Amino acid sequence: MTVIKVYIMNISKENLKIRNERIRKSLTGRKLSDSHKLKLSLAKKGKTYPNSLGRTYKMPEGFGAKMSKLRKEEWATGVRKSGWHHSEEAKNKISIASTGRPGPMLGRTGDLHWNWKGGISKDVHSVSEPKYKEWRMSVFKRDNFQCKICKSKVGLQAHHILKWADFPELRYDINNGITLCRAHHPRKVAEEKRLIPTFQELVSVSTDSY
Ligand SMILES: [Zn+2]
Repeated sequence: MTVIKVYIMNISKENLKIRNERIRKSLTGRKLSDSHKLKLSLAKKGKTYPNSLGRTYKMPEGFGAKMSKLRKEEWATGVRKSGWHHSEEAKNKISIASTGRPGPMLGRTGDLHWNWKGGISKDVHSVSEPKYKEWRMSVFKRDNFQCKICKSKVGLQAHHILKWADFPELRYDINNGITLCRAHHPRKVAEEKRLIPTFQELVSVSTDSY
């Protein structure tokens, strides 16, 4: 005789939670194949949503667009606000309470700092050094505070055309500096090397017209 056991889903809320968490964990980071994604997408488009009574219904046509419009209006009129804000009074209180109270990192510089690497800064320029600041400002000024490649005025950096570490004699030479925006600042050593002649050309042109 064969006994067929039928397991009836009888799972407590707590166990359900644990189970779902396990499923979630096993699924995160999973890579779906393109065909799988397509299938999911198609399945979702015709998807019916179960309501609390176990009946199913389809979202009416244009429902998404309608909700989107409604929400946008709510944001625009200020009915909906992002996050949670302190009142002016609360802000003042916080400000008074924290004024003059030293932060935990106050005075923890150099070897007192947890990230101190033991003075490796010889080959890297210190941004706070007055001489460096002066050099950077003169480079910016010569280039009219614009990226030499795209004329952007945002996120400017003064780049050393010939490396700071390899050419100590050119560290504060304005002709060894070029103003670049973050996007045009070379990120790799190879790129930096490749662009040396280009940068030198750009700088020499601007020096002539200056
Ligand atoms: Zn640029």
